[in-house]
Amino acid sequence: MHPFSFTKVASTRDALNAGLRGGRYIAGGTTLVDLMRETVERPETLVDITGLPLHRITVTERGGLRIGALVRMAEAAADSRVRTTFPVISQALELSASAQLRNMATVGGNIMQRTRCTYFRDVTAACNKREPGSGCAALEGVNRTHAILGASGDCVATHPSDVAVAFAALDASVHLLGPDGQRSVPVTGFLLRPGSTPNREHALRKGELITAVEIPAHPRPLKSGYLKVRDRQSYEFALTSAAVALHVRGGVIREAKVAAGGVGTVPWKLPAVERHLIGERPSDALWTEASERAADGARPLEHNRFKVELLKRTDERQLRIVGGNR
Ligand SMILES: Cc1cc2nc3c(=O)[nH]c(=O)nc-3n(C[C@H](O)[C@H](O)[C@H](O)COP(=O)(O)OP(=O)(O)OC[C@H]3O[C@@H](n4cnc5c(N)ncnc54)[C@H](O)[C@@H]3O)c2cc1C
Ligand code: SF4
Repeated sequence: MHPFSFTKVASTRDALNAGLRGGRYIAGGTTLVDLMRETVERPETLVDITGLPLHRITVTERGGLRIGALVRMAEAAADSRVRTTFPVISQALELSASAQLRNMATVGGNIMQRTRCTYFRDVTAACNKREPGSGCAALEGVNRTHAILGASGDCVATHPSDVAVAFAALDASVHLLGPDGQRSVPVTGFLLRPGSTPNREHALRKGELITAVEIPAHPRPLKSGYLKVRDRQSYEFALTSAAVALHVRGGVIREAKVAAGGVGTVPWKLPAVERHLIGERPSDALWTEASERAADGARPLEHNRFKVELLKRTDERQLRIVGGNR
């Protein structure tokens, strides 16, 4: 591990000043410290932000939910408002990492976690994300867990977060605070596809801090849930996952929100699936037909062709779980 200095800040102003000077924010530390141990990350200054007042979950004026960036994953998963209004969020959190990690890790840190591509974490391997211009060992290497959607010729790594998939499905936004004030960016625009700059992973500007994630109020109540398919049933990242939220009234689907995880370089919205569902009557045939569109545009690699079919089946199964057997 490279030497670094450590400072704990008590106000957002101190945090932003430290961030502007190049300090690296640390919240639960469950992923940043690992990366520092492996020398993938070498920050000179760590800025502990856990003393900032970003620990609350509140109902917004418009009836949505705002989850503070420092709310622990376990707290968010257990919150009765999250569980009743957006079960897809609590389920995605509960299927993430382990109980011990969820007790330490924060919602803001979860969105910001970096890929689990093994070559990214091996400092002897070529990796454009870790070292721009060095190449991508995964393209010709073992790429079973990598992305089939949103990849580029420079990087094929997936985004590993589960809850970010639920946030993307629900059209959540990330609230940011920086030297120039506050702004809000949709989760789907906050996390960036690799293109020719895979080292640029998010829309944070220098010194900016995530303060919260806001899930907008949905005028029609949504029934929702999260399904995660992985190599073992706990303590493992998704091969594929599906976040589904539906509103059915009068026997017709009025609203559909669907996103996939484990397959994209970012949490992957499935608008073609959503469009196919809206205005239709729930049926087993409909779930199958809609899921056929889940992998539209997929470009599998040598070892992950299985993900195309697995994505469709994950999506179909979760549509059936949320929408019912007919
Ligand atoms: C063994 C293991 C298994 C895991 N399995 C899963 C899984 O199945 N699903 C899943 O989703 N995740 C999984 N994770 C990842 C885990 O959820 C993350 O480590 C955790 O959410 C990160 O949160 P943290 O608060 O500890 O972040 P930190 O490690 O403190 O920080 C992570 C990054 O976020 C930045 N950051 C943190 N807070 C802010 C903020 N407010 N504003 C700006 N930047 C910020 C930091 O600078 C750093 O770059 C796993 C992790 C481990 C170690
Ligand atoms: S897929 Fe991305 S993270 Fe993995 S080795 Fe290639 S450039 Fe690096």
